[in-house]
Amino acid sequence: MVVRMRVNRSKSGKRRSHHALAATRLIKCECGGLRQNHRACPSCGKYGGRVVVDVVARATREAGRQKRREKAMRASGMATEAANAAAASSEKAA
Ligand SMILES: [Zn+2]
Repeated sequence: MVVRMRVNRSKSGKRRSHHALAATRLIKCECGGLRQNHRACPSCGKYGGRVVVDVVARATREAGRQKRREKAMRASGMATEAANAAAASSEKAA
């Protein structure tokens, strides 16, 4: 099969000139942390001056999930990150 509509390098370049990804714009939150514009702050959970995300609850939930994941990994006999860290530290000590 022959490519009939071959695009030359100039045309490809012109098309791809708009493909660059822009860096994420970060602004300073009123808590002092950096956050994306039009997004709730990941450190204080505020948006538009009021708290919309319960950051503490989210952190505890995430910690519980991590714990359960670790437990499941240990039960299945797979190496966990904590076990790896312990092994690395014991190697360092020896
Ligand atoms: Zn904040």
